[in-house]
Amino acid sequence: MSESVASLTLLLEQHAPWVGLTGAGISSASGIPTYRDHRGHWLGSQPIQHQEFVEQEKKRQRYWARSILGWPRVHQARPNQTHHDLVALESAGIISGLITQNVDRLHQQAGAQSVIDLHGRLDRVRCLSCGHTEARSHIQNWLEQHNTLPSLTSVTLLPDGDADLPAAFIDGFQSPHCETCGGVLMPDVVFFGGTVPSERVQACYRMIDEAEGLVVIGSSLSVYSGFRFCRYAIQQGKPLIILNVGQTRADELCVRKFDDDPFSTLSQYVAQLDSQTPEHQHV
Ligand SMILES: [Zn+2]
Repeated sequence: MSESVASLTLLLEQHAPWVGLTGAGISSASGIPTYRDHRGHWLGSQPIQHQEFVEQEKKRQRYWARSILGWPRVHQARPNQTHHDLVALESAGIISGLITQNVDRLHQQAGAQSVIDLHGRLDRVRCLSCGHTEARSHIQNWLEQHNTLPSLTSVTLLPDGDADLPAAFIDGFQSPHCETCGGVLMPDVVFFGGTVPSERVQACYRMIDEAEGLVVIGSSLSVYSGFRFCRYAIQQGKPLIILNVGQTRADELCVRKFDDDPFSTLSQYVAQLDSQTPEHQHV
């Protein structure tokens, strides 16, 4: 066993259960690029700010026009090994729950039971006037019926596989409205400049209160809404572990950082856990 697997094993088993705080790094192996997290952010565009979306029809047209092409990629994404490893750790009692900054619902798809979607979920839209919610897939059908997708020849393909859309397509785009009251529909996610509902933040704090430590997986913690939980865990005297490639905002706070192929380290730990599980528990 490598030093890092041995060290991770020791830490996780000494302080279990842990809360996992996950980010975009986890979903990249599922084909969802890490450089954008889909909170108002599609196809290489600048992220739309919460206030702009709420106040400006032009910004909403821009958002929906890009998302009509970007959504299928997220919708078709499937959980990868790391999502499955975290489910195994939850079943084994090593992890008590997850706080995820991802809006792709891949943890739930993998079978995770206790997950808080810190930044909301992309598979749902919400009416800003009456609160009515609707499946994003339903909205996708509406968008496709009411808009003509630009021909491939008029779309400029960018080097990273994204597309640059013709201005005329965006300007004439039909944005969806609430079927109940006609109000403005917004993806049920926290855009940049938006606020995470306080009851959701409190639920995260409670989850950390009831655990023994916090483990960050696949996040650079660049957004304060996630980073605050690292500070909170430290204030509570709980250890912080980080599994992430590259620098994070909490590097100074953690007891150990695994940055050399961290997901594989995690998988090796989980595999070893499996081999220790008696046969009769596999039914
Ligand atoms: Zn409504």
